[in-house]
Amino acid sequence: MCGIVGYIGFRNAYPVIINGLKRLEYRGYDSAGLAIINDNYHIYKYKGKVKDLEEKTKNLNLTGTIGIGHTRWATHGEPSDINAHPHISMNKKFIIIHNGIIENYARLKKRLEDRGYNFISQTDTEVLANLIEYIYLKGRVTPEIALRLALTKVCGAYGILVVCTDEKETLFAARKGSPLVIGVGEGEYFIASDATPIVEYTNRVIFLNDDEVAIVKKNEFSLKTIMNVPVTPVIQEIDIEIGDIEKGGFDHFMLKEIFEQPRAIEDTFRGRLSIKDKSITLGGLYNVMDKLINAKRIIIVGCGTSWHAGLVGEYLLEDLAKIPTEVEYASEFRYRNPIINEDDIVIAISQSGETADTIAAIRLAKEKGATVIGICNVVGSTVARETHAGVFTHAGPEIGVASTKAFTAQITILTLMALLLGYKRGFLPKEKYEYYINEMFEIPKKIEKILNQHEKIKELAQVFNNINNSLYLGRGYLFPVALEGALKLKEISYIHAEGYPAAEMKHGPIALIDESMPVVVLASNKDITYEKIISNIQEVKARKGMVISIITEGDEKISKISDYCIEIPEAPDILTALLSVVPLQLLSYYIAVNRGYNVDQPRNLAKSVTVE
Ligand code: GLU
Repeated sequence: MCGIVGYIGFRNAYPVIINGLKRLEYRGYDSAGLAIINDNYHIYKYKGKVKDLEEKTKNLNLTGTIGIGHTRWATHGEPSDINAHPHISMNKKFIIIHNGIIENYARLKKRLEDRGYNFISQTDTEVLANLIEYIYLKGRVTPEIALRLALTKVCGAYGILVVCTDEKETLFAARKGSPLVIGVGEGEYFIASDATPIVEYTNRVIFLNDDEVAIVKKNEFSLKTIMNVPVTPVIQEIDIEIGDIEKGGFDHFMLKEIFEQPRAIEDTFRGRLSIKDKSITLGGLYNVMDKLINAKRIIIVGCGTSWHAGLVGEYLLEDLAKIPTEVEYASEFRYRNPIINEDDIVIAISQSGETADTIAAIRLAKEKGATVIGICNVVGSTVARETHAGVFTHAGPEIGVASTKAFTAQITILTLMALLLGYKRGFLPKEKYEYYINEMFEIPKKIEKILNQHEKIKELAQVFNNINNSLYLGRGYLFPVALEGALKLKEISYIHAEGYPAAEMKHGPIALIDESMPVVVLASNKDITYEKIISNIQEVKARKGMVISIITEGDEKISKISDYCIEIPEAPDILTALLSVVPLQLLSYYIAVNRGYNVDQPRNLAKSVTVE
């Protein structure tokens, strides 16, 4: 989950590293550190944010054309100066930064301690640094061989950058499970956990694969497996604009990304949804289309917000395409020995394409012979590379830790898939299919209309100023949105919130309702349970609960019995999730801002969950 950045070339490395860390800070932000290498090496690392690191180092005049930097999301050992990266081995031979977890670190540590090694931090990373050094000194081998041998001994996940202080002109990079991208410039290389620190210098990149080691010098680059088999690097051109990864006038990335949703959805359906021909084309699914059309069962796997998108997908695929669909938490799926048949289709959803549990679920499904489809936002990511087929959400980089535009873009893809399959399988008549295509096309404009109500939602957020609990209720397509709304609130404002299918309220949560408990109710006048939702609202009111309703424009029935209302434009029920979630995102955002929290970097969370 942490961010790694490295530079080797002709520039002064310090600003490249500091700026890179700022771009990567969304991945982890409990501590940050760097090492600048010239004739000597200089390591600075502190608990706190990248700006603290910058404050403490900016006047030190650190010069050197090689550097590495790390922003941490602690897994082993609390956030502290000592546990921050880079770590250096006991005899000062290897400097290392690491993203991931060395799972057998305790055993390795014990063995090294038996051989005289002392450890100063609680991290698994320091164990790896000392293991490499031990092999290097004991075996009298080159730094590269020591590194590769050490990596054959570790279990777990890593993306690492390593410098040997005896061979200061070389930067080693290796990965297993955690992403690493190498930017290829003229006489310089940039290495990072994702492309965001790289794009301002070059758009030519190499995505490192698992079990590969890159040996990078200023003018020379080679790639091999940890077993020493040479690999020919494949250079790809990526297209991310620098503006895409800056805040563009918004106070926070999260707000920018909420406001980007009309464009993100349009970009996601561009070239796929044709209003002129009334058709849907999903090129990425071309080679699995027959299998999809004949599928007996679909299993959707994901984590967090992606799992919620999966739930909407389940409703869509069963409703429109009549394919039995199940949704599983990737973390459960991978360990519970699930029944997977060869004609099953597994759809894996992950914004970053690097979610560790989702990747493990993909591997398991493939092992069992299923066809695996990926839905992810990051081109070149592990999910994109390891699935049989897939569709990218073209939402643009999502930096805010609380996912917003990735969610609506994922639902957009799932909607296109369900419509196409419904039509091709003969369950969706042509007129209905075309009607939904037209309606889908209108969604970005409708979201725009919801966003225009931001001032009103900001005001409404005040209601939550002294609140500690809240309930989100929805039915049908709006049930997963209730879960997502509650998750957004928990993530950034630290208010306990639960999402429920509205009818389940009577089976427990109703006991919690009193005047200090806001209940957010999602109601669409197109839903077959509309009247029942009205009864649910009455039940809350009868217990003096405060009702905030997200309703269809002009719905007087519900507005009369609610304390507060936000209106969303009318849409067919299959598309209401795309609209109703937007006011909930804004509501959570303003509630968190009112409470003075750092919305883009909520405590204990990190963006791309590359550890289990
Ligand atoms: N496991 C390492 C640590 O706790 C790296 C964590 C990370 O990926 O930030 O320091």
